[in-house]
Amino acid sequence: MESHGIVIAGGGICGLATALALHRKGIPSLVLEKSSTLRAEGAGIGVQANGWRALEQLGVAQELRETADLITSYRDVWKQENKQSTQEDEYSVRTEMRCLNRKDLIEALAKAIPAGTIRYGCQIAAIHEDPGSHGTLLTMVDGTTIKAKVLIGCEGTYSVVAKYLGLAPVRTIPRPVLRGYTTYPHGHAFKNEFLRLRVGDFFIGRLTITDTLVHFFVTMPTPSTELTRDLKKVRDLALEDLQGLQCPAEIVDMVRESDPESLNLVTRLWYRPPWEVAFAGFRKGTVTVAGDAMHAIGPFIGQGGSAGMEDAVVLARSLARAVGRDGAGGEARQEEMEMVGEAIGEYIRERRLRLALLSLESFIMGALLVRSPSPVIKLACVAVLILLGSKSLRHANYDCGRL
Ligand SMILES: Cc1cc2nc3c(=O)[nH]c(=O)nc-3n(C[C@H](O)[C@H](O)[C@H](O)COP(=O)(O)OP(=O)(O)OC[C@H]3O[C@@H](n4cnc5c(N)ncnc54)[C@H](O)[C@@H]3O)c2cc1C
Repeated sequence: MESHGIVIAGGGICGLATALALHRKGIPSLVLEKSSTLRAEGAGIGVQANGWRALEQLGVAQELRETADLITSYRDVWKQENKQSTQEDEYSVRTEMRCLNRKDLIEALAKAIPAGTIRYGCQIAAIHEDPGSHGTLLTMVDGTTIKAKVLIGCEGTYSVVAKYLGLAPVRTIPRPVLRGYTTYPHGHAFKNEFLRLRVGDFFIGRLTITDTLVHFFVTMPTPSTELTRDLKKVRDLALEDLQGLQCPAEIVDMVRESDPESLNLVTRLWYRPPWEVAFAGFRKGTVTVAGDAMHAIGPFIGQGGSAGMEDAVVLARSLARAVGRDGAGGEARQEEMEMVGEAIGEYIRERRLRLALLSLESFIMGALLVRSPSPVIKLACVAVLILLGSKSLRHANYDCGRL
């Protein structure tokens, strides 16, 4: 049986960022990823100033900045159904915000990690305490087992590690979201903005990446019939509805002209409610979680990926105080494992309030956008959002500190 020091479950944004953060502290790790290759499919990802601070610490900010222009404003447009009127609100983004191609982000993180750190085609099926040591035994779907002294679950919303820690399953909202990219070979005429458009029950976003490329998402009302897996057909269905709702022509054209290969469909949105994030136990011995496995916060404030990168920086910083340069390799000593456990406890304490506030903000934003609450609840939601500084994007001011 193989034995490892730090094992990271999942090679998504958070798992790779954690491996890279540890590497930059001189600590080796092993990433187990269930896919057979790097999962770098399809959609854009908005990264606000807090995410860029984390990327700086990870040493990949500069090369990523070259792939995406600055977004300088938000524009919210609400086109009311059966009415000619349109409400519009525009405000500037005063801090750094860019929309990255997810592929660029994943590849930049993976490239900076030493070769051999990521092991593909390794899906963790079960986790048990290892009675012979102070760590855990991981069983893969192919039946092989790996011993880990420290285990960090970064396998997203359906995390086996989160289950091992006794966390409740994430909640889901059945809302299909079609995402993709549209290229304008002769340049587009849009401002460098994040446009959020509400038309009927559709919620559409458009983020400029460069002067010839935009990322978009179309959040559709729950369909009465099962959505097909044929993404071009989903796009055609969405286009029919958008045209029926007299959606602006530039939006209809953007969706129609999107690159079919870039289309990507999420059929439900996940979240862990803020009260769980505030109180759940995120550690058992030397096992913990990070990223969506810990705090899936839904896409409503575009912070899930950046919050996962912040986790990575804080966790590596804490672990570096307890783990030697061999990355907890060698025989597990009780004293060392206790120090690692304490370091993980520090990480959780440092992250708790930040993550609870992000979850609360996203939860309330989601309630407003998806659930159409009663006027009283709506008023209460707006009051909380004002307190949280949602419009000024206060959440983006956060600095996770130096690695
Ligand atoms: C529609 C939408 C829009 C979004 N927009 C934004 C945005 O603009 N900005 C932003 O910051 N965030 C955004 N997010 C959130 C962001 O995508 C997630 O927070 C982020 O991808 C989570 O990264 P992660 O690494 O924690 O998990 P994941 O990206 O889910 O990665 C988990 C990895 O673990 C692997 N895995 C799973 N199970 C196992 C297993 N048992 N064994 C081994 N490997 C396993 C998976 O294959 C995967 O590679 C959005 C989300 C959605 C749905």
